[in-house]
Amino acid sequence: MLDSILGSLKVVALATKTDFRSVTSREVALFEGPMGWAEFSPFLEYSYEESIPWFLSAIEAAYIKTPPLIRATVEVNATMPAIDNPDEIAEILSSFDGATVVKIKVGGDARADLARIACVRELCPEARIRIDVNGLWSVDQAEAFLDQVGEIEYVEQPCLTIDELRELKKRSGVKIAGDEIIRKAKNPFAIDLSDAIDILILKVAPLGGITRAIEIAHHHQLPVAVSSALESAVGISYGLKLAAALPQLDFACGLGTGALLAVDVAELPIINGAIQVRDVAPDSGALIKYAVSNERLNWWKNRIRMTWSAGAQAIVQEKGWIL
Ligand SMILES: [Mg+2]
Repeated sequence: MLDSILGSLKVVALATKTDFRSVTSREVALFEGPMGWAEFSPFLEYSYEESIPWFLSAIEAAYIKTPPLIRATVEVNATMPAIDNPDEIAEILSSFDGATVVKIKVGGDARADLARIACVRELCPEARIRIDVNGLWSVDQAEAFLDQVGEIEYVEQPCLTIDELRELKKRSGVKIAGDEIIRKAKNPFAIDLSDAIDILILKVAPLGGITRAIEIAHHHQLPVAVSSALESAVGISYGLKLAAALPQLDFACGLGTGALLAVDVAELPIINGAIQVRDVAPDSGALIKYAVSNERLNWWKNRIRMTWSAGAQAIVQEKGWIL
């Protein structure tokens, strides 16, 4: 399996429209298996161990039959990076056709965060707003901000730890979504989320694939929203399949982030605030045009070998995925 993955491996660097988590070019590795194309794209700083679920998700996409899909399209939210220029904010918003929910990155300077939210509200008065803090606030900071922010759909990962989230929940009526709390957990099944969060964020790659993400959702019995990690259209298409396979889906999903890329390997357009669920194969011209240097390609090959031997291989064998 490893040889076959390395054999079809393509690595591309996709320029982003704007600085996103300090990323201005997104490197993603793509490979093809009997079930189609798959993406392996943990952020560059992630360790081999942390990259294991990302690799398992990609292997599942390439080698394992997808569970039945019950939706043909998935509603997506607009995603607003932590930018402050109103013209740039307007331009980003305009790339999410028909989205009625906007997720805004906050957690830096509170005044700039509030100004960004006000700017989005002015540009899209009808939109529902959710904010994502990536765990950057203390409980006191979170409480103070939520007192000032006005009506929002939910706040995603306001604080980092489960104890802080529980404390915040006692103090604030705003709904809380958990992202890092579940996707960075050593064992997402072992963590007790009661009285800490109201909504579970599911990201297919860091949670180890569609089947495992559905099992995690089932285990915690919370409403879910599916989100992503600035993947190419190949990775996004797999997140869309997770969203389409879930028995219950109550929120717009963070799967429109392709709109933040200046270029992509395939088209996956947002139409009337939704994306069609389908298989995506990368365009062969794009694979050549955006290919990384040989040095970067070798770096990714080494990363894949190391992630495989760091634990992915053992799990693949345990699951019986090696035919
Ligand atoms: Mg998040």
